[in-house]
Amino acid sequence: MKALVYHGPRQVSVDDVPDARIEKPTDVLVRITSTNICGSDLHMYEGRTDFEEGRIFGHENLGEVVEVGDAVDKVAVGDMVSAPFNVSCGHCENCEHGLTNYCLRANEPGMAGAAYGFADMGPWPGGQAEYLRVPWGDFQCLRLPEDAREKQDDYVMLSDIFPTGWHAVEMSGMKPGESIVIYGGGPVGQMAALSAVTRGAAQVMVVDRHPDRLRLAEQIGAIAIDDSQGSPVDQVMEHTKGRGADRGCECVGYQAHDPQGNEDNADTLNKLVSSVRFTGGIGTVGVFVPQDPGAPDELAQQGKARFDFGNFWFKGQQMGCGQAPVKRYNRHLRSLIAADKVKPSWIVSHDLPLDQAPDAYKHFDAREDGWTKVVLHPGQTTSGSGRENG
Ligand code: NAD
Ligand code: ZN
Repeated sequence: MKALVYHGPRQVSVDDVPDARIEKPTDVLVRITSTNICGSDLHMYEGRTDFEEGRIFGHENLGEVVEVGDAVDKVAVGDMVSAPFNVSCGHCENCEHGLTNYCLRANEPGMAGAAYGFADMGPWPGGQAEYLRVPWGDFQCLRLPEDAREKQDDYVMLSDIFPTGWHAVEMSGMKPGESIVIYGGGPVGQMAALSAVTRGAAQVMVVDRHPDRLRLAEQIGAIAIDDSQGSPVDQVMEHTKGRGADRGCECVGYQAHDPQGNEDNADTLNKLVSSVRFTGGIGTVGVFVPQDPGAPDELAQQGKARFDFGNFWFKGQQMGCGQAPVKRYNRHLRSLIAADKVKPSWIVSHDLPLDQAPDAYKHFDAREDGWTKVVLHPGQTTSGSGRENG
């Protein structure tokens, strides 16, 4: 089968690899019809993780079930399914408690949590490929309704970024009628904004410096804060009468940088502490890592950050962090999409066949204007199917 293979920093290609197949009776084999490029892929693509050369990317996967193992009971051939990016068994202690983001069986002993095509998250091949093996298929696969094919660009967000944005808002503790500031206007930040709007925020602010991303946030009613035009903390204070936002979300991660490109892994965390009111809450879903050998300074190389703990403590704030437990939310978010209450596909800028993935990685990695979210469609050919959404 064809798959997008990592060959080293900023080097990927679509290669012929051995077909994904049923290996255990609990497996489901999915023919991938839609699979996104994620900001998480970019950390790996840039060589800022220990993702191994030769492995396949792709953890935001949707497709049609083409084969099921003998022990699969619920999922059937022909079902359209969304596969959560977290690989999880469903019956370890953490999974039983709903912590599928920290499954104790899907990674090596001593490590909790796994994902498809992800550094340090187990051996699972990714889904930027024609086929994907989904282990523990009955537990993992979320079946999609009859409009699954027409609304693929919406439903494909269920495997990761929509639940992740929702989780960021959840961890912030936001209640209806509150204000919230979201650092990062990438796909995850946009989904946090959509989630906050859907959950009844009175005021949603999104901080970024890319005009196309800021405009997307405005389209759903958020206030765009351009941090290249002045301190984002001051701008949040102006919008909140000097009080600060009730809640905040971190949707950037450890490669946070100023508008000129100077990296500082504590930048968004410290700005959040300053932007959020006393006793407010922060949800951090942007990825941070225990080691970062490619970081510009020694502290960051050790996975450490100059976090303003004093200010955080003084303000009595709370923070939640980590990978999102997709299964906690994806069923209900599916129903919101099915009922046309939300349309997460508004951020999709490109629908492309898999063979255009290497080029798409380049553009998305450069955060080029107009490249806000790429959905790859394996099985489609270049001729005529590539769509740049205006
Ligand atoms: P992205 O890289 O496309 O978007 C990040 C955005 O942050 C960019 O638009 C960039 O301009 C902006 N930015 C950079 N530095 C900033 C700063 N100092 N202040 C404000 N904005 C800044 O990525 P994405 O797909 O939106 O993902 C965002 C993060 O979420 C990544 O770290 C990704 O790995 C992570 N993620 C986490 C989970 C999870 O489960 N926790 C799931 C998916 C993605
Ligand atoms: Zn992702």
